[in-house]
Amino acid sequence: MTQETGGFAAFNLNPNILAAVIATGYEEPSAIQQQSIPIIMAGHDMIGQAQTGTGKTAAFALPILHRIDPAKREPQALILAPTRELALQVATAFETYAKQMPGVTVVAVYGGAPMGPQLKAIRNGAQIVVATPGRLCDHLRRDEKVLSTVNHLVLDEADEMLKLGFMDDLEVIFKALPPTRQTVLFSATLPQSIRAIAERHLRDPQHVKIQTKTQTVTAIEQAHLLVHADQKTSAVLSLLEVEDFDALIMFVRTKQATLDLASALEAKGYKAAALNGDIAQNQRERVIESLKDGRLDIVVATDVAARGLDVPRITHVFNVDMPYDPESYVHRIGRTGRAGREGRALLLVTPRERRMLQVIERVTGQKVAEVRLPDAQAVLDARIKKLTNSLSPLVADAESTHGELLDRLTADIGCTPRALAAALLRKATNAQALTLAAIEKERPLVPNNAPRGDRPERTGDRPDRGDRERRAPVPLAEGRARCRTALGARDGIAAKNLLGAILNEGGLAREAIGRIQVRDSFSLVELPEDGLERLLTKLKDTRVAGKQLKLRRYRED
Ligand code: ADP
Ligand code: MG
Repeated sequence: MTQETGGFAAFNLNPNILAAVIATGYEEPSAIQQQSIPIIMAGHDMIGQAQTGTGKTAAFALPILHRIDPAKREPQALILAPTRELALQVATAFETYAKQMPGVTVVAVYGGAPMGPQLKAIRNGAQIVVATPGRLCDHLRRDEKVLSTVNHLVLDEADEMLKLGFMDDLEVIFKALPPTRQTVLFSATLPQSIRAIAERHLRDPQHVKIQTKTQTVTAIEQAHLLVHADQKTSAVLSLLEVEDFDALIMFVRTKQATLDLASALEAKGYKAAALNGDIAQNQRERVIESLKDGRLDIVVATDVAARGLDVPRITHVFNVDMPYDPESYVHRIGRTGRAGREGRALLLVTPRERRMLQVIERVTGQKVAEVRLPDAQAVLDARIKKLTNSLSPLVADAESTHGELLDRLTADIGCTPRALAAALLRKATNAQALTLAAIEKERPLVPNNAPRGDRPERTGDRPDRGDRERRAPVPLAEGRARCRTALGARDGIAAKNLLGAILNEGGLAREAIGRIQVRDSFSLVELPEDGLERLLTKLKDTRVAGKQLKLRRYRED
C-alpha cells in the first residue's frame, strides 16, 4: 500500500507535509492516524481514544498543519500537553512535520523556563503553540488576548492533564479561545470527567476509538516473577545479568525508590539514573537525552516522570513495583515495543499482589507467563558470553600490538603465557565471580525458592514493618543516629561482622558504636550523629560477607 494512492498520500495533505512525513520514514498511517486525519482535516471536533504508542501525535499534528495558514504570523493552533517533556516531544514532532513548510514556526510553552522568550516567540508569529496548561495560564494572566487568534485546539493526553490537577486551568484556557474554534481531544481513557469536558466544550464531536490493548501488548513479550518485597533489588540485579537489553526502564512507586534502585545499579557498574518529579526539569531532559544516545542504559522512574517518554532504544521494561491499575501497566510497558519493534516486559509480583496480576491478565486479555530467577549456571553462561563478546574483536590485532610485550612480560615474570593471560583476565574482570561456586556464594537469592504462598505473608510491602510492629521501638541514646543496611541474618551476617567492618573502615572507637540489631532481612546499627554523613560516605564501598553494606540513615516513619 505504499504506492502513490495508498499510505499517507491518500489523505491529500499539503504536499510539503506529505514530503516531510515520507522523509521521517513512516510508510503507513497507524490506525488512529487513518481515522483521525480525515476528520480533523475536514474541520470537525473529535474525541480520539487510543493507547500510548499508537501514533496520536501525527494523528493531530498533520491535519492541523494542513489547516493553518503559514502566511499569517499569529498563533493558530494550540496543543495542550500534561508535562514539559510531552510538550517538548509534541513541539519537536510538529517541527519535523513542518520542516518543508517555510514560515511555519512552533513554540513550546512550559514552566521552569523564563516567560519572556516564550511570549516573544508567540508575538513574533509562531503559528503553533504547544503548552502545558499551568504555564499557559500564567501567560494569559499577563495578556488575556494572547490566544485570541487560535482556531484549533488539541488536548493531548487529556486524562493525564486532569490527573495532574489542570481542570481549572483548562477552563481558563477554554474561555480565552474563540468559541468558533475546532477542538480535538485525545485520551488513553475516557473517564466521566473527560466526557463532561467534551460535552461542554466540543461541538458535535466525532468519536474515534482504537482498541489497541492487545495490539499494544502483542509486540511485547510479558513475564512475571514472584519475589518478596525485600528481595526486589537482588532479583533485579540477577535478571539484568541474563536479559539481553539495549536500554531499559524500571518503574517504581516512590521517588525514594528511584534513587535507591538507581544507586544500587550504579554500584554494580550499570549506567543508570533516577527520573522522578523532584528532579529539576533540565536535569530530567538530560537523563532522557542520555538514555537516547546511550550514555545511560537504565532509567529508574516513577509513572508521572516517565509519562509519554519515547525512546526507541528501550527494549525492556521492568515493573519493579506493581502499577496502581491495569491501565498504567499497559502505559508502562508501552515504553518498549515502540512503533512495531519487539520489547520485553517483566513484572515483579509480591505474594500479596498476585490478585493484581490476575486483573492485569484479564484486562489485557493475555497471560503473563511466570519466569524464575536465573540459576547460577545461567548467570555464569551470560557472564562468559559477555566476556567473549568484549574480547573477541580484540583478538584479531592484539598480537601485533601487544605480542612483544607479552613475550617480555612472561620472560620478566618467569611465567607461562597461560598464567599471564589468566592474571590479566582476573584484572580485566575486576575479580568478578566467573565460576559456578563463586557465583553461588555471591548470590543472596536462591533461584526457584520464589515465594509460593508457603511462607507467611508479611503485613505490608515494606520488608521490615512486620519486625517493627512486633517489637517496641528501642529509644535512641542522645547524639546517636540509627542506620540500616539491607544485609541481615539471611545473608549470613552476625553483629560482630558489622561491628568489625564499621570499626575497620570507619575508623571509629568501639564506644562510638551503639546497639547492633541483626534481623532476618536487615540490620540496624546505632552510630554517632556527629559526622554521620562523612562516616556513611567513608563506608560507601564497604562490603560485609561479600556484599555491599550500603548503610543508610534509618527513619522511623
Ligand atoms: P502516542 O502519542 O500515541 O503515545 P506517538 O505519537 O508518541 O504515540 O508515537 C509513537 C512512536 O511511533 C513515535 O516514535 C512515532 O515517531 C512513531 N510513529 C507514529 N506514527 C508512525 C507511523 N505511521 N509509522 C511509523 N512510526 C510511527
Ligand atoms: Mg502522545
